[in-house]
Amino acid sequence: MSLGIDWVTEWIRESARVIADHRVELITLDREIGDGDHGENLDRGFSAVIQKLGDLPEGALPGDALKLVATTLISTVGGASGPLVGTAYLKAAGAVGKAEQLDGAAVVALLTAARDGVVLRGKAEVGDKTMIDAWTPAVDAAAAALADGADEAGILAAAADAAEQGAKATEPLVARKGRASYLGERAIGHRDPGSQSSALILRAASDAAAG
Ligand code: ADP
Ligand code: MG
Ligand code: MG
Repeated sequence: MSLGIDWVTEWIRESARVIADHRVELITLDREIGDGDHGENLDRGFSAVIQKLGDLPEGALPGDALKLVATTLISTVGGASGPLVGTAYLKAAGAVGKAEQLDGAAVVALLTAARDGVVLRGKAEVGDKTMIDAWTPAVDAAAAALADGADEAGILAAAADAAEQGAKATEPLVARKGRASYLGERAIGHRDPGSQSSALILRAASDAAAG
């Protein structure tokens, strides 16, 4: 089984649902170590994406849907996360190219390109207490699952599990990027909001593949 446009659109719809459901939680996390808008930023962006999703033409490819997410998030989400997450989808679109169906290797390439896009834009490393602390373990787990012979759903489930662990692992860290870096040791004990939203988005990818 490979994944096509139906998976991508369901991933987008499920992402919008979970971001809306966790809007207050993400706001609360960002209020603790940022400016309290992360849930609102992403909810506004994904709501705008859902409005535009119906405009995708018949026969649209996975890359077309990912590109729509990218341009919409970049144009509607202010703050750090809009350009960062937008670039992730833009690079993911580039990685899938004109493919109609994505096999396990293509799914790993998509996730890797998304993570690389966030790094290109934000220059964060693992341990900086950012969304990269969810994305990089997810990419590593996805690659390991592919090497172990997992199918697409198995690869995405491994990525989602690792992203959730990565988000939790940001709690004891001092931030070295973004607003939380101004807080020094006061950021310790708080989960990074962007790592949490990234874990939600990656769980949505897995749920969409599980059907
Ligand atoms: P803002 O900080 O501008 O209000 P958001 O609240 O929407 O934007 O997003 C904050 C999140 O962005 C942080 O929790 C962190 O995960 C992520 N972030 C900030 N700076 C960077 C960076 N340079 N690289 C990766 N992620 C970052
Ligand atoms: Mg914020
Ligand atoms: Mg802000």
